[in-house]
This record gives sequence, structure tokens and C-alpha cells, in this order.
Amino acid sequence: MLSKILSKFSCAACKFCCSFRRQSLWETPLFPPEVVEKLSKPNEYGVVGEFRDGQIVLGGYKTDDPEEEVPCTFLDPHKGCILKPEDKPFDCSIWPLRIMNKKGRLVIALTPTCPSIGALPSKALVDLVQDGLAQKIFEYAKLHPEIIKEYREGFPIIL
Ligand code: SF4
Repeated sequence: MLSKILSKFSCAACKFCCSFRRQSLWETPLFPPEVVEKLSKPNEYGVVGEFRDGQIVLGGYKTDDPEEEVPCTFLDPHKGCILKPEDKPFDCSIWPLRIMNKKGRLVIALTPTCPSIGALPSKALVDLVQDGLAQKIFEYAKLHPEIIKEYREGFPIIL
């Protein structure tokens, strides 16, 4: 959904948002129930996931280093995400955008750690959000309120 400003090539080469430190586990993607049903048993991808309340469960940290990252179960180190678009979480398709609840108001905010987008929203990103993307995110969140995160300080609000 952000392909106008974020090339698939830079995402494929980076994969930052598909690996998680322990303190980032709140950010692991949420899958809709029908996809959880499919991916939690043997499936076409040959990879079975573990889920809790729709969220992929990751573990397997090998050190005590808080900077250690564990990749998403569905990340292939060479090819990137192995999931077809219809199985990829909405969360992943809008990252680094997030829909958040700030004191009862829903906002679209930028996760400030995406290496390609940067910590502050560019005019191109703001335009993209205002020209229809926000509407799509709000509509999806109305049907899937579980994707709404609590607002966190440091996440610039775009809308
Ligand atoms: S589901 Fe795919 S895009 Fe989302 S975090 Fe996992 S590997 Fe990355």
C-alpha cells in the first residue's frame, strides 16, 4: 500500500520490520482468524506458525542481548516474506504506518524506526495518507479493531 513511496526492492533488501527484538514483540503482526486457521497447520508454504490472539508468537532468542532480533516465522532470509498478498497481514502492508488510540482518538502515526522512510513523515507520505490511505486504514480498523495499538510517545502523528 506504500509502494508509491517505498520500493519493494528496498523492503526486500532491508527486512527490518520483519525481525523483532524482545521489546518489539508487541509489534509482531496480527493475522485474521481465517489466516491463523490456515497457517497454524500444515499449509502450502511448508511453514507452520504459532499464534496467540491472532498475533504470531516468536521466540528462540539465543542470547541475553536486548538488541538480538528474531525473524518472523514467515520471513525467508533470501526471498523476504513468503506469504501471498491475500495471506499477508494488513499490519504488514501498511508498516511503518500504525493506527493508534491516543486518549480515545484514532490517529495514523508513523513508526519512527523504518530505515527507508525515516523518523519523520515526508510530504509524499503525508499526501499518500491524506489522499485515501487513511480512509482505507480507518475502514479496516472498524472491522478489525484488534489492529489498533495504544499510542506511544515518539510516533509522529500524520492524521
Ligand atoms: S508476515 Fe511477512 S511481511 Fe509480515 S512480518 Fe512476517 S515476514 Fe514480514
